[in-house]
Amino acid sequence: MPTPSTGRSRQDWEQLAATVRHEGRAFIGGRLVAPLAGRTFEDVSPIDGRVVTEVARCDPTDVDAAVQAARAAFDAGSWRHTDPKTRKDVLHRFAQLIRDDTDRLALLETLDVGKPIVDSVNVDVPFAADCIAYYAEYADKLYDEVAPTAPHELALVRREPLGVVAAIVPWNYPLIISAWKLAPALLAGNSVVLKPAEQSPLSAIRLGELGSEAGLPPGVLNIVPGFGEEAGKALALHDDVDMVSFTGSTEVGKLMLRYAGDSNLKRVALECGGKSPHVVMADADIESAAAGIAWGIYYNQGETCHAGSRVIVHASIKDALVAAIARIAATITLGHPLDPGTRMGALIDAGHMTRVLGYIDSGVSEGARIALGGRRAHEEFGGYYVEATILDDVSPHMRVAREEIFGPVLTVMTFLEEREAVQLANDSNYGLAAAVWTADMNVAHRLSAALRAGTVWVNTFDRSSLATPFGGFKQSGFGRDRSHHAIDKYSDLKTIWTAYR
Ligand code: NAD
Repeated sequence: MPTPSTGRSRQDWEQLAATVRHEGRAFIGGRLVAPLAGRTFEDVSPIDGRVVTEVARCDPTDVDAAVQAARAAFDAGSWRHTDPKTRKDVLHRFAQLIRDDTDRLALLETLDVGKPIVDSVNVDVPFAADCIAYYAEYADKLYDEVAPTAPHELALVRREPLGVVAAIVPWNYPLIISAWKLAPALLAGNSVVLKPAEQSPLSAIRLGELGSEAGLPPGVLNIVPGFGEEAGKALALHDDVDMVSFTGSTEVGKLMLRYAGDSNLKRVALECGGKSPHVVMADADIESAAAGIAWGIYYNQGETCHAGSRVIVHASIKDALVAAIARIAATITLGHPLDPGTRMGALIDAGHMTRVLGYIDSGVSEGARIALGGRRAHEEFGGYYVEATILDDVSPHMRVAREEIFGPVLTVMTFLEEREAVQLANDSNYGLAAAVWTADMNVAHRLSAALRAGTVWVNTFDRSSLATPFGGFKQSGFGRDRSHHAIDKYSDLKTIWTAYR
């Protein structure tokens, strides 16, 4: 796969990193504000372990101020009661301001997350802008319903915003996942309080500024950086929040349901972890399966919720497939994230790197064999890099086959019968995505129906668009991001029944 360009050299990006403004304050009620208690935390870059800037450590009082600002904007109707064309124009302007700010946003994303700059420029920033523009178009195209009634009666079924939506997001795709939540929630007329992950607050704060510049009234979009157990918990427990839209681990997703039950029964939508299987049949095109599998696990250093981390391959082609994946992995350069030639960057922090390396060790001690990689890399950068890794001879009971590793580690298991492949693929608490590789369309249809996952790819991987819903079965969560279905998540239905003469 040819590497797209960023239009700048590594030196240019490093120069820009030294001069760009790294805003660390919260964004509440239309303004950048320091946290009320004055506390901050260090935002550390996984590229080299250096501190990028100090960031506001929002606590329950800051969260309360943000929720109050969001509620006041909602009650005043300053956003939800504007005419559809104005809302459409503001959201389009928001999308355009994001595009105009590509270099800065991409840099903030790469500094915070350690992902390759080439992907931040060509994927994360444009996808976030496209998402906001996509939902902007619904503003003047959504109709409500008139239900059938007897004569002299009129039953309107109207879609109404929920009120204050809390969006709690992870660090792996901060801009994209924030946009997946903000865009349909704002389009539906809600106010939003966004809590970015503590590892990746910078692009979210910038989104607050750009939304305001685009014309979102004060209080409609608020950003509260801080820690999960402090700012996130306060938000999810807040009695004046009507919905929490969460993306993150299954473990924290379960807490969201508890917080809703312990507070005001707010609505909850969850996008959680995954352990997505690739089922590779004996008749599959090995080269294209290998390319889909390699990019599907090593893109974004494997820190992707739907990464295809489990290969379940017919025993007769296993060796050829593993060799082909290793060949493609060798072309996916692991390097400095600000180098435009890099396609795999740093893991999010030292703790996560240790965890990923620990999984590799646990696989080996349970009997798996390292067929590729397996070690820490680029210690000279001072950051947290792990090689593209393949664990072969994995069996279903091993921890590496069952738990989400969230790093560049692929596990390989074999089967002989189709039935066994389906059983292995579905033998997981997760159900976010899956793939089938086969030349036989009968098998493709049979398997895609049998696999329990929110998305099943056939002879491809990770293809999607804003028009297709994304989310999981089982403990991968419920509710869908993207597509018109996401709008329903941020709306309630009101029936207005009128009798007339
Ligand atoms: P995480 O669950 O640790 O954190 C996610 C968010 O929740 C962060 O903003 C964090 O600060 C907050 N949080 C943590 N503890 C909290 C608490 N007690 N109360 C309230 N908020 C709290 O997840 P992460 O490590 O940031 O991200 C990795 C996980 O996200 C992986 O499991 C991955 O699969 C998942 N993920 C899922 C999707 C999807 O669409 N299904 C997409 C991306 C990532």
